[in-house]
Amino acid sequence: METKEWKFRGNIDLKSASVFSIARVIGDVKTNLNQSDQRPIIPLSIGDPSIFPCFRTAQVAEDAVVDALRSSNFNGHAPKGGALQARRSLAEYLSCNLPYKLSPDDVYVTVGAKQAIDVVLSALRRPDANILLPKPGYPAYEALSVINRLEVRHFDLLQEKDWEVDLNGLQKLADDKTVAMVIINPGNPCGNVYTRDHLKKIAETARRLGILVIADEAYGHLTFGSNLFVPMGLFGNIAPVLTLGSLSKRWMVPGWRIGWIARSDPDGIFEEQGIVECIKRSLITHTEAATFIQAALPQILEKTTDDFFVKIINILRQDADMCYERLKEIPCFRCLQKPQGSLFLMIKLDLSQLQGINDDMEFCSKLAKEESVILLPGFVLRMKNWVRVTFGIEPSALEDGLARIKAFCLRHASKC
Ligand SMILES: *Cc1c(COP(=O)(O)O)cnc(C)c1O
Repeated sequence: METKEWKFRGNIDLKSASVFSIARVIGDVKTNLNQSDQRPIIPLSIGDPSIFPCFRTAQVAEDAVVDALRSSNFNGHAPKGGALQARRSLAEYLSCNLPYKLSPDDVYVTVGAKQAIDVVLSALRRPDANILLPKPGYPAYEALSVINRLEVRHFDLLQEKDWEVDLNGLQKLADDKTVAMVIINPGNPCGNVYTRDHLKKIAETARRLGILVIADEAYGHLTFGSNLFVPMGLFGNIAPVLTLGSLSKRWMVPGWRIGWIARSDPDGIFEEQGIVECIKRSLITHTEAATFIQAALPQILEKTTDDFFVKIINILRQDADMCYERLKEIPCFRCLQKPQGSLFLMIKLDLSQLQGINDDMEFCSKLAKEESVILLPGFVLRMKNWVRVTFGIEPSALEDGLARIKAFCLRHASKC
């Protein structure tokens, strides 16, 4: 047969978007694991505490899902944008820290916070538009910006100022095509929690620039330090805010795939600018969250008691303290700050203190090989020669992992 020139090719946008995938890089690190190591693998790379019994979700949450499923009332299609009961309970839940009340119309149910990111970015897309993303941040924003054809510009988070937004730098990046900025609070990957004062300054900056704030609060309420969690929606009267969240992290059920978008915009600017319409249209093109999880949402949000949250926070505080105390004794680690929220912290590697390790990927690969401990190399977060540590695991496993990291660093320490 004669050779044929086929006209189809893979989508180059998807190829370049996959560069920003944590899962892909962790897969690469894991190829180094030594199969004959009898010890358990310690996963300090990805934030999924649900695999550990101590982080099992609240019983009322499980019961709510079972009851909804067994009722057989929720086997049909879900309404676009979410079931009314689910939106009503979310509006109530998200209003509790705000000076005004959200209505069910201000809230949309999504398939986790990840889909919320996609929906919002697709609603914002315009020719030549750009978006300001934090560095370091959450790589899904880069990937989904590429797919939604938004130009990405990175502003710095300032390590020496507790990872606050570099607002001066941010203003220099913005131009008349800038549409939005993203903040992640409590912070992934830095474990920081912004003060009310800083959030207000962010809102004022956004107002000056005429842009909206996308507030990723996937770790909302998961704080255990001195800074309390303050929702960005508090400043929706200064600049309009789209808040993204989900059950995944606070309830430790990332597989349930339920999240939300909430508009904090008391002045109705989103409506005026056509954003509300576009979010609704975008939701029509996306899949809905599973009906029985939506049906369980009111029970989950209203009936989960403080004992569950307090128990989780206490374990995370113990984990964060242990992580900080043990890692700060290790000479090749720099810029370590005690995390105040989320499940993560960032550490800078001082490679001059290590022999035969030339970058963050090599550090993580050798650590996986020799100690069966998985860390995330910082380059995927645009922080070359840093590593991200996830401490949200069972404390005894964390202790084991930290001891192995220390042994590894001592073994590779450069001899002076
Ligand atoms: C985990 C995470 C998400 C996605 O959450 P899902 O609800 O599991 O889709 C979004 N943003 C940040 C910062 C996250 O860490």
